[in-house]
Amino acid sequence: MNRQGRPTQPVASSAPEGLTTFSGNKGLQLEEALIFEIGTTQTTGVDLADLPANAKSRIGDLARTDEIGLPGLTEPETMRHYVRLSQKNYAIDSGIYPLGSCTMKHNPRLNEKMARLPGFSDIHPMQPQSTVQGALELIDTLAHWLKVITGMPAVAMSPKAGAHGELCGLMAIRACLEARGDARVRVLVPESAHGTNPATAAACGYKVDTIPATEEGRVDLEALKAKLGDDVAALMLTNPNTCGLFERDIIEICEAVHGAGALVYCDGANLNAIMGKVRPGDLGIDAMHINLHKTFSTPHGGGGPGAGPVVLSETLAPFAPLPFVVVTDGTFSLAEYAPEAEAHGAQPFGRLTAFHGQMGMFVRALSFMMSHGSDGIAQAAEDAVLNANYIMASLKDIMTASFEGPCMHEALFDDRFLKDTDVTTLDMAKAMIDEGMHPMTMYFPLVVHGAMLIEPTESESKQTLDAFISTMRQLVEAAKAGETERFTGAPHFAPMKRLDETAAARKPVLRWTPEENASHSAAAE
Ligand SMILES: *Cc1c(COP(=O)(O)O)cnc(C)c1O
Repeated sequence: MNRQGRPTQPVASSAPEGLTTFSGNKGLQLEEALIFEIGTTQTTGVDLADLPANAKSRIGDLARTDEIGLPGLTEPETMRHYVRLSQKNYAIDSGIYPLGSCTMKHNPRLNEKMARLPGFSDIHPMQPQSTVQGALELIDTLAHWLKVITGMPAVAMSPKAGAHGELCGLMAIRACLEARGDARVRVLVPESAHGTNPATAAACGYKVDTIPATEEGRVDLEALKAKLGDDVAALMLTNPNTCGLFERDIIEICEAVHGAGALVYCDGANLNAIMGKVRPGDLGIDAMHINLHKTFSTPHGGGGPGAGPVVLSETLAPFAPLPFVVVTDGTFSLAEYAPEAEAHGAQPFGRLTAFHGQMGMFVRALSFMMSHGSDGIAQAAEDAVLNANYIMASLKDIMTASFEGPCMHEALFDDRFLKDTDVTTLDMAKAMIDEGMHPMTMYFPLVVHGAMLIEPTESESKQTLDAFISTMRQLVEAAKAGETERFTGAPHFAPMKRLDETAAARKPVLRWTPEENASHSAAAE
């Protein structure tokens, strides 16, 4: 039994075999068609007064003369349509979301309340700066705490995601090396790296050179040293790394890279495990993005929104992109032009985005920090690590942990425990959906076979973790007992069954066509 007193084994439907409902709905689970299928162009949710006979368009020739062709519904129908669609989705507000690397934690409602304050939500980047002093102060305050937490002297606030932050960091590194008259061509990336690392290096025009991992899942220091040379611009590494392990040689690694005249970029996606405990600046890091939408809560997923400020070392600080907030006699303003910034010794590499960053994310992140305080921040890191180790310790007797010893904030398993079954990592993930749990990250990192990367974060209670662990144990036992159909046919109970993920990625059908003239069928049916 779980804590709601429900059996944790999925119960077979008690409906007689073959019984279907007339409506297509099941109990209170409602089917929902596309809005184009249920709405008509003849309907609208509002009554508009007829135009006066002498009405003239104020946009002249640009006025629309044809039907707009959008489906109309009444207001209650519209409401129900979107609520029903949202219920087909899974969210951190519905249950555990143990995606490794992604840090899906609870988003405190206090942060939402702060972000909705009109002074933050109703402003525009083109407003005169004198009218947005509070917003500029908030950006400056958040920047301050990011520098304190990481022990770094500067931060670029405008990058809009982690991957964008990587681009910012590498562009700062390139600007710094070019200013030294020492353009270099290679970037070293450990083989466990997130795909965005090599992609960013390649997008910046660098050649990517992979460094192997040791048996223990960490950067091979000797292999790294062997790859260093005067054509290496940077090392990009993640710490704790994507195997959920702390790179213990980090200080020696940074010294070796600096000794070769190169710089160290750290992927900071895993800051949640170390914030308040260790400062990346003290380890020798030159640039690191912080995924505010991971470490400091703020809702994310489905491609956005995000924010990826980049902290920079003394060496890279002058090359930070514009704009940055400056304070003069208590007045906040944005350094918008290079000449002004140059007067302060800066050589910005340019701009990364049109405006100043993701305001809504900034508010939520600062709200998270201020409501936790410095001891709360450190405790969040400790609890995230404790929760991951609880999962690791509770599952490693029946699943195969990829590396010896305790982990940081995420527990990495591989598929060796499935060896004599017909069940794969993908099947396990799909069976978790039937159990009402979002799957863990699968097949990443690539350094282990059939990876299952589980990150509970600090925000899950022991009861939730116990329910997760017990369900995982039952699934593993079922797989080992040969209950293959439970897995290979999963998800059995979700609104959408097993999708053709390759076709969905390679041949996405992005446009709905009415059935009578549909020329191609949906890739994912
Ligand atoms: C999430 C993540 C990224 C990319 O960050 P986005 O904000 O999604 O662009 C990069 N590296 C690692 C290790 C990550 O987990």
